[in-house]
Amino acid sequence: MIAALAHDLEAGEALPVYEAAERPAMERSPLPDLSLIKMNRYSTMTVQYSRGCPFNCEFCDIIEIYGRQPRTKAVTQVLAELDQLQRAGWRDAVFVVDDNFIGNKKRAKNLLTAMAEWGQLHGYPFRFITEASLNLADDPELLQLMKDAGFSTVFLGIETPDECSLIANHKLQNTRRDLLESVKRIQQYGIEVMGGFILGFDTDREDVFDRMVEFIQTSAIPVAMVGLLQALPGTQLFRRLWREDRIVDAGDGNNTDCKLNFLPRMDAARLVEGYRSVLRQIYSCDAYYERVKLFLNRCHPTSRQRLSYANLRAMVSSVVRQGLLGKGRLSYWKFVLTAATRYRRSFGMAMTFAVMGYHFQIMTDRLMEVE
Ligand code: SF4
Repeated sequence: MIAALAHDLEAGEALPVYEAAERPAMERSPLPDLSLIKMNRYSTMTVQYSRGCPFNCEFCDIIEIYGRQPRTKAVTQVLAELDQLQRAGWRDAVFVVDDNFIGNKKRAKNLLTAMAEWGQLHGYPFRFITEASLNLADDPELLQLMKDAGFSTVFLGIETPDECSLIANHKLQNTRRDLLESVKRIQQYGIEVMGGFILGFDTDREDVFDRMVEFIQTSAIPVAMVGLLQALPGTQLFRRLWREDRIVDAGDGNNTDCKLNFLPRMDAARLVEGYRSVLRQIYSCDAYYERVKLFLNRCHPTSRQRLSYANLRAMVSSVVRQGLLGKGRLSYWKFVLTAATRYRRSFGMAMTFAVMGYHFQIMTDRLMEVE
């Protein structure tokens, strides 16, 4: 199809839309050309190993675009990308930007075994981040392999502590389990859990806001991405709401700007105010640092971060902006002191969390001002 597109472009006869007959095999994707980017402008590099996800969440557009049959690259392709990143001088985080890294667990395990060997051979130059489904918690072998391969963080779509909403949204992999216990099991491998949460489901009741805050505070998830439900075009959710005559517009996919593109069951103003109140509470300085401390307590992660010039600059900037000028100065210094005394081995990571918290506090402040 790309050949046809190139041909038509050269002939000046390109069509508005080209549709592939089938989803392309990942084994055919070429090595990315790193010379096209300025690496020092990025905090993470990316590698994509797989596309698609076997689950069936109603609001998800991934499965509509990339399908429910995970497609993967060969192990040798991924290792070649890591080799290339190392040769280019990269020594920081690498985000494995899959829709669901464990969509095919057997293949993920093969890859992880090879990545662990690669890391040992090359002195572990990277730490890895990825996205996965919560059933990761059910597989100790997979968790151990991720730890051995150098995975430090995994993003999980937890969505809501309300089981009725999970069932209604076909997020069945998150049901019939103790969600907090599942998160804890992953964290006990020293892996940080980032959580995705959604407000605005039809089944959300008035108490959902308090329940979400309580869940997030108890979960030791420092970075909780809470958004308002968006009905993305092409999803099962969009089609259902369309049938129910509840779609307002196509939306722009932004789930944090307090705008809804559908008519919710809950009063819309109440929903938006509840959403704001959740963010206000979880990103207040004290609540945020409490979660970070809980995480450090639970996981004892060792900072593999190198003391680079960029890290030093970030640290100085954090001291100035948060410790001298920030409105949460007192909480900040209390946290830094605790990190320096009780979590010395994780100090680099603790400071990274402090900086990330500042980002979320600013974003939350801005959100409070949105009309
Ligand atoms: S687990 Fe994530 S990627 Fe998979 S269908 Fe659900 S929302 Fe989509």
